[in-house]
Amino acid sequence: MMDPQPLPLRVMLATANPRKVAEILQIWKDYPLQAEPFSALGDWPDAPETGTTYLENALQKAKYYYDIAKRPCVADDSGIEVAALDWGPGVYTKRFTPPGMAQAQRLQYMLRHLRDCSTPEQRRARFRCAAVAYGFTDEPLTAEGVLEGYIAFEPVGEGGFGYDPIFCLNGQSQTLAEVVGDYKNSVSHRGQAMRSLAEKLLATVPHL
Ligand code: IMP
Repeated sequence: MMDPQPLPLRVMLATANPRKVAEILQIWKDYPLQAEPFSALGDWPDAPETGTTYLENALQKAKYYYDIAKRPCVADDSGIEVAALDWGPGVYTKRFTPPGMAQAQRLQYMLRHLRDCSTPEQRRARFRCAAVAYGFTDEPLTAEGVLEGYIAFEPVGEGGFGYDPIFCLNGQSQTLAEVVGDYKNSVSHRGQAMRSLAEKLLATVPHL
């Protein structure tokens, strides 16, 4: 007799960002995880993000959505760290640009901060991501990822979200917005964190 196929483990994604949801679904496409977007439960105010680390914020988001959905959740928190900004804005990335700016203006705002940095070395930057699975086990499961690169000189590409159009991988001239999809996910901070979290979840939580 053939071995039974494992049933997918249902996971609610604790984020209101549809582009993040799309990325996570793609990152997890080969894992027996049935990721369900939180948006299916309707509109809710954004989760608070008052922690001083990515992990604290991810945990805060996961708990917030868990309390609403009454279901185990996975959340992430991420940000960009720029050498010329003393490795900020980091965990405060969402609040780096003044409120109400359009996406294109946000990119220009970051570029203006780096106008005196003329080499990729001076424009060094990295993305970080912390991911948390909350409510599946007694203690939350956690995972992290980091992607090193530099800030481009102008925005290029339509894909992805956030700072993707002005972030290049070390040694490359294409921006992340030009290589979104499987390539971005295979190297990205979120790809690393979400794959590691998926493996921990599947190793820990019974799903047969
Ligand atoms: P949060 O994890 O939703 O709090 O993300 C904070 C901010 O970091 C986002 O709004 C983006 O501006 C930026 N960010 C995080 N991950 C990425 C990414 O993969 N690409 C581009 N920007 C990102």
